[in-house]
Amino acid sequence: MDHRVGAFSVDHVPVIRDLVAQWEREPWDQEAFPAGRIAALRATTAWTAFVGVAPGPEAQDLLDVLRLIGRADLSVGRLFEGHVNGLQLVATYGSAEQRLTMAQAAERGALFGVWATEPTPGLRILQLGPDQWRLEGKKSFATGAGQVDRALVTAQRADGTRQLVSVDLSTEKPRADIDGWRVRGMRGTISGLFDFSGLVVGGDSLIGAPDVYQTEPRFSAGAWRFTAVQLGAVEGLARHLRDHLVATGKGADPIQRARFAACIVAVRSAGEWVRRAAQLAEAQADEAVAFVLMTRGVVEEAGLALMEAAARTVGTASFFTGNPIDRITRDLGLYLRQPVPDQARDRAAAAWLEADCWGEDRWW
Ligand SMILES: Cc1cc2nc3c(=O)[nH]c(=O)nc-3n(C[C@H](O)[C@H](O)[C@H](O)COP(=O)(O)OP(=O)(O)OC[C@H]3O[C@@H](n4cnc5c(N)ncnc54)[C@H](O)[C@@H]3O)c2cc1C
Repeated sequence: MDHRVGAFSVDHVPVIRDLVAQWEREPWDQEAFPAGRIAALRATTAWTAFVGVAPGPEAQDLLDVLRLIGRADLSVGRLFEGHVNGLQLVATYGSAEQRLTMAQAAERGALFGVWATEPTPGLRILQLGPDQWRLEGKKSFATGAGQVDRALVTAQRADGTRQLVSVDLSTEKPRADIDGWRVRGMRGTISGLFDFSGLVVGGDSLIGAPDVYQTEPRFSAGAWRFTAVQLGAVEGLARHLRDHLVATGKGADPIQRARFAACIVAVRSAGEWVRRAAQLAEAQADEAVAFVLMTRGVVEEAGLALMEAAARTVGTASFFTGNPIDRITRDLGLYLRQPVPDQARDRAAAAWLEADCWGEDRWW
């Protein structure tokens, strides 16, 4: 297996497709961290490939990998998306030495994560000496808490700016507090609390200039990746819905067919938005931010529509443990909850009022 960081390979998508097909045939433990599945991903070229993604086939490849994983297992999708985000942040804002350290860690199989969300008063970084800093505070919703080997975190400096810090957690995993992660779905992500208080890091852990994490369009447009993971689950629901209609003969009913037609439109339309969002975002296009913000809402609505349609079409059977619709619905219901969704759509609408943000081929 070619594990060179950033190595582009035509094999990513077929390998991931085979892997997730196998996952879909296996029994499933939703409560636990999906260690076996993460290990399987680690053994593929996709683990280190998406450090930098060019528009065109590379962006399409990442999209396909994310949606395939999301279709089979949203928790693994969230973990893998965070891993890719972590690699990309170091590649984008890190020094040559930091990029090398990141590449070596990734090649050894390190799992990366990006933790920005925090409980009040948030994570702070205090300078102790010319090359020594101390972290104080916690992160919440920290996907892979206690499992991630390297976390990219935002921490507030004394002057109020926010510093991106890469923290080696390989010997710090007991700092995770996952007791409070009692949720209906996405349990495998173990997105608990992580307490950094007292942890001392060197200057070589500080990535980029203060406030670099929120640089646009990368910051907002990068959200296309989670829409791709979500899209996979929406596609999974559509597939299970179709299988049910075919297997039970309910597809002969025009009311069921009308509902299924609406699902096909929702899922295919969302796919078109995500496809274009990926290309605009990776091209760093001016309209990428508004486009991705709008895409978030489009995928959210498709997800809500498919979950509702699945419940109505399949009925009570879809609520039983072990039914894939139950599993996807519980995971997706939570994973659709991303930051400030109303404001995201509002910002997108305001941008569209100024100019069409569809891309080169406007109004088409
Ligand atoms: C499974 C899972 C894994 C996660 N992993 C990570 C991770 O690894 N790293 C990380 O950093 N984060 C992570 N998160 C956090 C995630 O990115 C979001 O920040 C979080 O899910 C949003 O929570 P919320 O719904 O409470 O947010 P909110 O953004 O607060 O939204 C709740 C509602 O309040 C509204 N609202 C918010 N602010 C205002 C306002 N000022 N005025 C009016 N209305 C407002 C919104 O529009 C929405 O209707 C994870 C979340 C989940 C569920």
